[in-house]
Amino acid sequence: MSFSTLGLHADVLSVLDKLGYHTPTPIQLAAIPDVLAGHDVMAGAQTGTGKTAAFALPLIQRHLERQDTEKVIRVLVLTPTRELAQQVHKSFVTYSQGAGLNAVVAYGGASINPQIEALNAGCDVLVATPGRLLELAMKQLIDLSTVQTLVLDEADRMLDMGFIIDIERILKRLPDTRQTLFFSATFNDEVFALSKTILTQPKLIEV
Ligand code: AMP
Repeated sequence: MSFSTLGLHADVLSVLDKLGYHTPTPIQLAAIPDVLAGHDVMAGAQTGTGKTAAFALPLIQRHLERQDTEKVIRVLVLTPTRELAQQVHKSFVTYSQGAGLNAVVAYGGASINPQIEALNAGCDVLVATPGRLLELAMKQLIDLSTVQTLVLDEADRMLDMGFIIDIERILKRLPDTRQTLFFSATFNDEVFALSKTILTQPKLIEV
């Protein structure tokens, strides 16, 4: 199996070629067609499985296919930690070379002003930790009403870290009609309960 059989755009394929990614990982094989088709996804995947590209590549492709070039937040990725936010942001930047996509990262424990400046310069994809995202939203510095896809990365860790209230507050600010991609390394009752409240007829992926 190759990336070209997954229906990815030539520009995306050329970046993958440059990076030396020749074969999709199992989660990429399973998730990319579902994300491209607009489905909600619930995936059990550990770090190191290629899960970031599994959601980033099809979302970049959607950006390439979009006709209008208005810079509004279409994709929101929530991560439990600053380190993961930085890593996911870096992946979006790398994979979207030449795609005219602005990815911005926002996390707590760092000055908010450079993050506000980056957002004001135009943002298509925002990668954020829940607390800082809420701070930005409550100060009316971001508009989440344009979000088309929400990604919850490492949902189990987000719950372990006590982010459930923040996540619920964020969900209230998002459109009800959206695509939601839910990634978690482990599943317990709390993780299932959250997934049930935010996913609509999800495709289940276990790798
Ligand atoms: P992740 O699970 O998203 O943290 O990715 C783990 C590592 O695998 C990252 O360093 C990626 O750059 C790399 N990677 C992801 N997909 C592929 C692929 N299809 N082929 C080779 N390396 C990959």
